[in-house]
Amino acid sequence: MRIRYFSMLVATAAAIIAISAYAQNPGAPGGSGGRGGSGRGGRGGSGRGPAVNNDLGYTDTPLVPGQQWHVHDPARPHPPVVTPGENLGDAPSDAIILFDGKDLSHWQPATQVMPTGPVLKPGAPGWKVENGYMEVVLGSGDIATKEKFGDVQLHVVFAEPAEIRGNSQNRGNSGIFLQGRYETQVLDGWNNPTYADGQIGAIYGQWPPLANPAKKPGEWQTYDIIFEAPKMNGETVIKPAYVTVLLNGVLMHVHKELLGPTVHRAAAKYVPQPDEDVLLLQNHNTLVRYKYIWARRLGAYDTPEKK
Ligand code: MG
Repeated sequence: MRIRYFSMLVATAAAIIAISAYAQNPGAPGGSGGRGGSGRGGRGGSGRGPAVNNDLGYTDTPLVPGQQWHVHDPARPHPPVVTPGENLGDAPSDAIILFDGKDLSHWQPATQVMPTGPVLKPGAPGWKVENGYMEVVLGSGDIATKEKFGDVQLHVVFAEPAEIRGNSQNRGNSGIFLQGRYETQVLDGWNNPTYADGQIGAIYGQWPPLANPAKKPGEWQTYDIIFEAPKMNGETVIKPAYVTVLLNGVLMHVHKELLGPTVHRAAAKYVPQPDEDVLLLQNHNTLVRYKYIWARRLGAYDTPEKK
């Protein structure tokens, strides 16, 4: 009996100590992730210093390994606010609209040359625009953006010809050439046998995709591509290019290292190139359509929001 009474005393004392400690620092770790949910914040330690709103971070935490910032550092810059598109498929507020189904004002004629890159031409592109999309015109050549890009996020909506013609690489072939050099393959992937590193979703000649989520010919499909441009110093590769690709929302490649500009029946290797260059769409003389294309230049971490 006496032992039970003593145990109750100890338990009661422990509860009082715990409640007291919480009252002094309600936002302490071990709670709801430090945000407290109450908006009250804490007093940052002893309570003698100025009030600290722990909803906005902590200054008494260790540094993140390898970084200049404390864990939950309130001084760490906040990223820019980006407004997502209102409707499904709409571009976010900071995107460069390269094609919205209406005109080719952002595009120029070009020729993709392996492996040295795009050759730009004067005049208007030869592809046609109708019914809210652009379509390849046979024999009219490639097209490239007027804008040049380094690291970039791309969203592309395209469709393969509804009427099936040809086979393998001659069936619905086009291509999204990042910096006019690095091809993410556009091909009819619906029951169309071809070599794996040349099928839809492939990094042409280098990496087959992780899956084949191709839709039927004629249906709109989406590519989401995150491209990290290579850094070159003349012939020297400072940093290779990397690419992450989703086709119809399915992962094709994740941060995959590219071996050099796309080549055909040859081993890729890097050659000198500028830091930024155009985005090029391949004309492989099949009637591929593109409906929406937008791009976002990739920012860096800890870049302060512009006010
Ligand atoms: Mg192609």
